[in-house]
Amino acid sequence: MDAVSELQAALGPQTVLTGAALAGVAQRSDASGTGRDLPLALLRPGSVADVSTALSICHRHRQPVVPQGGMTGLAGGANCRPGDIALSLARLQGVEEIDPVAGAMVVRAGTVLETAQNAAEAAGFLLPVDLGARGSCQIGGNIATNAGGLRVIRYGTVRENLLGLEAVQADGTVLSHLSRMQKDNTGYDLRNLIAGSEGTLAVVTRAVLRLRPLPEGIETAVCALDSYAAVLALMALARKRVMLSAFEVMWADYFEVCGGRRLFADIPPFAVIVETEGGQLEPFLETALEEGIVSDALVAQSRADARRFWEVREGALPEAQLPDIANFDLSLPVALTDDYVRACRARIAAALPSARSFFFGHVGDSNLHIMVELPGLPEADVHALDRIAYDLVRDMGGVVSAEHGIGTLKRDWLGHSRSTGELAAMRAIKAALDPAGILNPGKVL
Ligand code: ZN
Repeated sequence: MDAVSELQAALGPQTVLTGAALAGVAQRSDASGTGRDLPLALLRPGSVADVSTALSICHRHRQPVVPQGGMTGLAGGANCRPGDIALSLARLQGVEEIDPVAGAMVVRAGTVLETAQNAAEAAGFLLPVDLGARGSCQIGGNIATNAGGLRVIRYGTVRENLLGLEAVQADGTVLSHLSRMQKDNTGYDLRNLIAGSEGTLAVVTRAVLRLRPLPEGIETAVCALDSYAAVLALMALARKRVMLSAFEVMWADYFEVCGGRRLFADIPPFAVIVETEGGQLEPFLETALEEGIVSDALVAQSRADARRFWEVREGALPEAQLPDIANFDLSLPVALTDDYVRACRARIAAALPSARSFFFGHVGDSNLHIMVELPGLPEADVHALDRIAYDLVRDMGGVVSAEHGIGTLKRDWLGHSRSTGELAAMRAIKAALDPAGILNPGKVL
């Protein structure tokens, strides 16, 4: 029996979709828009036992499997090649438990992030993982990619909020360590090895996420600044004076194209959204204005005001989604970020005169995003863009991915950020946990 027939016999036709049933359900591509092929079959297991059964069958048949969450990634990490089987976690969803004493939530992998956030809030807690795709991305994908997002400066990435993890290995073995304890020093950290492995080491099925108290006194401002030196001065002052929960920088080109003129009639060289907890924002901004760090500032008087500020940041240009946009997600030493922006913008303009580049990012945690609009987006030009962006990032001591991951789109550039020895260690880990190489082949390594 072939793999698909055996899967159908073991799991039933509702769980194993093929042929015409695929067209309306299976997704060809994540949000990078780079996927082209439908999978051979789409598996929709509703239990951990079914995930285990499916993988053990695929392992025996040496059948490649691509785990899929909400398909909101931007690195091509959930795209299928011809002949791959897709494994959707969407039916394995729901919050199983909120433990108020431990400050923890047990959640299934297919749960949409916003659903988990709302459940935490209803119980009086904050689930601090947050990103623009919250309405469709899934917890399992957030963990598999170690997602970052908007509150990393305050609460860290997914890894810092992950207490326990259950995942299924390539051969079907269930690795279950749903710990709720802050301290757990029992051997190798499989949890943080699987988190961020982009579905190449195991399939995440359930997790224990850390909850925090609901923040009080959230205040939001958008500031106009004349120089990057002022941006750095504002960040240094904020770290001394306030509890920062976001520090988002928009260079003038991005701010203008995303509707910044609705906030400041004259587009400043830099616009920064500052979000704080604890109610100290206004005295902090007064100091920043007095010291000449900030040339103008708007403080949100209502949630609707704050929403208007964030709408500019989250963009008239929604990350990816548009056809002719190439996305970059880099980390750089914060002091060098504007030098990088200037050099990168100039090199792109020289090499590809029809391209327009826009710079913004979670600069408070060293993360720069670039969107490049390039009519037609020809393959060769995309490669030229990659080379410009990644050679510069290597030369300035940064890394080629801050939060989106490696997937397929950055695989060829991983060596810009990791040494030969490190890559060999990664390959050895992959071979040990997935000896047949069936889990998300062609991704990351
Ligand atoms: Zn981001």
